[in-house]
Order: sequence, then structure tokens, then C-alpha cells
Amino acid sequence: LKTLDIEAIRREFPVLHQEINGKPLAYFDNAATTQKPNAVIKALSGYYEGYNANIHRGIHTLAEKATKAYEATRVSLQAFLNAKESEEIIFTKGTTESINLVAATYGRKNVKQGDEIIVSGLEHHSNIVPWQMLAEEKGATIKVIPVKENGELDYDQYFSLLNSKTKIVAVNHASNSLGTINPVKDIIKAAHDAGAIVLIDGAQASAHLAIDVQELDCDFYAISAHKFYGPTGTGALYGKRRLLEDMPPYQGGGEMIKDVSFEGTTYNDIPYKFEAGTPNIADVVAFKAAIEFVNSTGKPAMAKYEAELLKYATEAISSVKDIRLIGTSVNKVSVLSFVVEGIHHFDIGQMLDARGVAVRTGHHCTQPLMDRFGIEGTVRASFAVYNTKEEINRMVEGLERIVKFMK
Ligand code: PMP
Repeated sequence: LKTLDIEAIRREFPVLHQEINGKPLAYFDNAATTQKPNAVIKALSGYYEGYNANIHRGIHTLAEKATKAYEATRVSLQAFLNAKESEEIIFTKGTTESINLVAATYGRKNVKQGDEIIVSGLEHHSNIVPWQMLAEEKGATIKVIPVKENGELDYDQYFSLLNSKTKIVAVNHASNSLGTINPVKDIIKAAHDAGAIVLIDGAQASAHLAIDVQELDCDFYAISAHKFYGPTGTGALYGKRRLLEDMPPYQGGGEMIKDVSFEGTTYNDIPYKFEAGTPNIADVVAFKAAIEFVNSTGKPAMAKYEAELLKYATEAISSVKDIRLIGTSVNKVSVLSFVVEGIHHFDIGQMLDARGVAVRTGHHCTQPLMDRFGIEGTVRASFAVYNTKEEINRMVEGLERIVKFMK
């Protein structure tokens, strides 16, 4: 693995070079959204400055250029996820919309009264609520894989939940709140043996883990561009061709049709069947620059460096008085979640911000998981490739002072 030049990488991220409350910014909120490199920002303005036009229907030069750029991102994503065909990549607003799309189309068509949908106790609300809405509509039941004390899923329980009524299993590849990496390949295999299909929420995996949808054999895989150095407002759903073709459309409108008449409408082929209306062209175009950033930096090298940061931070933080780590699995992406006994997480977040250190506090859209640990929320520091040990030192020093001051 190549050694990364972190200072050179940092120079690619303009937002990092500023002071917050008179202190240099240490940005540790990467699980919420990562910062964007110059290449992404330039791709975005380059599109608007150079070839803004609506895609697919145009015959003029700009429309063709925009269409080419938009479709080039699809091909990039196909390679990024190792999908068999680029038509299996559907652009969405992000992970949330990707999951809602599957629940509203595949789910509505295939889930019946009495059926069961399995989610895990580690899920983000966006991988819970769409299934609850579906279950409510259909009279189906949600079953939950319990979370163990170390933040890993309880697989024995999972296997005992699977049965002939299980229609869908929806779990994340990595947890946004705790960082736990789930052995999704085994989860998928067991679900398939029971006759269920599997959706993997890859929002937190995309920046850190190798993703190979064919090797995983997952049926659906959902991602958001903004979680791996890309723009907000775009993401993708991977789906197996056979399933996508069999699914009804999500939204009706332009682009998703073949022929429209008042007697009836025929739908377009995949992926366009699921891309009604003018899409988020600019952000999709810039999404490609993010994929190229990750590819050229090298995901394995990034993951190795981030794992080093996580180990360093975990050890450093353990010396802080009354700290309790939430999620202690050794199998984690670079997320560090903790509480300090007797001090509210919001107060810690605010006092760290006063020192230029940006962390997230609260339930991280995983309230059932917080309930499981008997807490309202955590302080979460999540690391990206541009973070440094020096920044972590500042966070830990800050925490030590806060604890001393508050107690
Ligand atoms: N799932 C997980 C695990 C996430 O971390 C997030 C974002 N925090 C989402 C789903 C939702 O992603 P988005 O808000 O980009 O749609």
C-alpha cells in the first residue's frame, strides 16, 4: 500500500483551511458529510460555466455534452461498485431516496399481509422508517436483529429470525453511529437461503470499504455521494437487472416513459424508468470527480490510514476521566462514539466547537440504537483521510479540560 501524503491531500480541501472561534478547524463530522476536494468543486462550477443543458432529449452540442458527462458518472459508479452493467445504477438524491424507492416499488409489489421484513438494531432511521411505512400499508411485520454490548449484531438471533415469511432483509454495511462493520456477505447468503432479498445501506461504507456488489450478491445497494467526498443531493441505487425490470416505476413524469397517451403509458427501460424528471445533473457530473478522487488516492490506503487514526484516537481518549465508548468492536470504520458520565453530549460538542473541533452530538438518526444502550445520544468523532493525529490530540486535550472544568 502506498503511503499517503496527507498534507498534499489537505491542500485539495479548501474548507479545511480556516479558523473556527480563533482556532484551526479540526473537522471530525465526516460520517455526517465529508468535505469536498477542489476537483469536485471545479466539476460543479465547470458544468454550470461550460455546458449547463438538460440531458437526454437534446440534439444541440451542450445537451450532448451534459448527457455524456451525466452518463459517464453512471459508468464510473458501475466500476466503483463492480456492478455487472451500468443500467443497474440508478441516480437518486442519496441513500434515503434509494431505500424509499425500493420500499415503494419492490416492496409494494412483493410484500403481502403477514410477511416479515428484517432490519437491524444498528440502522439509521432511513433504513427503518420506509420499511415501517411499507409494513403498515401491507400488514407486514418488522423484525429486528439485536445489537450486542460491543456494538455488533447478534447473528444467532438473525438466523433464528429468518423464515419463509421473510421477504426483505435491510441492513447497513457499516454503522454511522458506532462504526461497526457488518459481515454483509454472510447476512446476504443466509437471507437468500431463506428466499428473501437483501438491501444493503452502504452510506457509511462507500468511503472506507471495498464494495463489490457481484461478490456480495446483494440485490440492492444504496449510497450517497456526499459521504465520500462528493456533492450533496445525489447518490445511487444499485439493483440487479432482473429485479429492477420487474419493479414498477417510482415516480411518474418525463424521461421515465416510452410512450404516453390518454389510453395508457408504457415505461422506459432501466435505469431511466426510475429517473423521472430533470435530475440533479450538476451534482451527478461532479460525483464522478469524487469517485476519481477516491480511486486515485486509493481506498485501501485511505482505509489503512483512517484505521490508524481510529486506533490512535481510541487509545488517547481512553485516558479521559469517566469516558464510556459506545461500540467497542474491533471491526469498525473510523467512527468513535462516546459519552462522558455526568456531562451532556451537547455541552461537550459546544465546548469542543469553541476550540475549533467539529464533532456531532445526539442520536445520529439511530434512536432505537441509543435506546439499546440506555442513552439519549453520544459524541461522535468520525475520521476522514484529511484528518491528522495532531487534530486528534487537540480533541483529546479539549476533552480533558472540559471534564476537569465541568466536574
Ligand atoms: N444510512 C446511513 C448508515 C447513514 O449514515 C446515512 C446518513 N447519515 C443515511 C443512511 C442517509 O443518507 P442520506 O441522508 O445521504 O440520504
